[in-house]
Amino acid sequence: MGISLFTASWVTALLAFCAWVSILLLGRNRMFRGTVVERANIYCLETLPANVNRLMRAGISDAFVQKAEGVWIALFGRRNPVFQIFAIVLYFLGLSVFMTQAAPAIPNRYVGGWQWITIALTLAVNMGSYAVACVVDPGYVDAGNVDRACSLFELDGLLYSENAVCRTCHLRKPARSKHCSACGRCIQMMDHHCMWLNNCIGLNNARWFLAFLASFSAVCIYGTYLFATVVLELRHVRGLTHAMVQDELTGEMVPLSFKTSILYLLDENVLLAIIMVLLLILTPAIAIFTVYQLRIASLGYTGNEEIKWLNVADDIKDEVLFVVNEGSEQEAYAVIEKEDQQADLRPKRLVTDLAQVANKYHRGIWENLRFILLASSSGSKPHVD
Ligand SMILES: [Zn+2]
Ligand SMILES: [Zn+2]
Repeated sequence: MGISLFTASWVTALLAFCAWVSILLLGRNRMFRGTVVERANIYCLETLPANVNRLMRAGISDAFVQKAEGVWIALFGRRNPVFQIFAIVLYFLGLSVFMTQAAPAIPNRYVGGWQWITIALTLAVNMGSYAVACVVDPGYVDAGNVDRACSLFELDGLLYSENAVCRTCHLRKPARSKHCSACGRCIQMMDHHCMWLNNCIGLNNARWFLAFLASFSAVCIYGTYLFATVVLELRHVRGLTHAMVQDELTGEMVPLSFKTSILYLLDENVLLAIIMVLLLILTPAIAIFTVYQLRIASLGYTGNEEIKWLNVADDIKDEVLFVVNEGSEQEAYAVIEKEDQQADLRPKRLVTDLAQVANKYHRGIWENLRFILLASSSGSKPHVD
């Protein structure tokens, strides 16, 4: 008794699919900068399409190539609901497997009937926060609110320079904002554009995004626990706890091992097995991403600023970041390339350590989190020292 070739092949296919989605989803995350995950992402999203493009140009008409490029841009470069629909369909497929395969075995000897209340609450919070994060205006900057948006945070002169204007929106760039090419707008306190939500994550929906991530982690952990109790319950119901099997080598009757009984049940209930494998892969990935997002939020960074800080660290390592005296005691940060440093006669000192450049937007862990929970583009101006 063991795992059949059929089960082994779909588990392999599922693992390969999850790895591919993870590379697409997380490859450009600053967590994976310089790692094999980022290189795989660049290969999938840049090198491979460029090679395919070259091959296509060699044998296929220009009109077809243009059409294919158009589809690619529409999918990955513009706001569109394809990945959102895909995520929602997967979510409800998982939920229907739960309702058909697991729900009939709840309550069981491990889970009381009262847990249907906590199951319903967890799912409601998760779906509710997802829906709100998807539909809320993330903090678009427009002509009507640009002045208020610019007064929300002071420019720090390092990540955000004076007098910056968005080349697309032709509006002043508020501190901590970024232009999103998919949305075609500048977003206040921009974190990133999330294709799974088909929306930007910014000032107005960061709290809903964090609530969604935290509750989705809870759904995955709770779901794994519930499915595990159902498999253990099935082991009792099917009488596998005291089953005897013939030993292939000695021919003697021996008790069925715990591991073999679980593998037998999973091989027999393919849907249950698929969802268990999916949950085992998804749960740590979602939990790590949630902790990561909470960590940068509590340290006063947005996802976009995390990348900017990595660039500042690179500038410091390359010895090109200076504090320059602009005259009348006015100091400012400036990146001066090696070849221009001698010709630049302004009084300046080299920044040699990241500790010498403070994050102006870090106001203490609790204050940072409180601001994300309560902030809104129409809300009160936060105090920045
Ligand atoms: Zn813009
Ligand atoms: Zn966007």
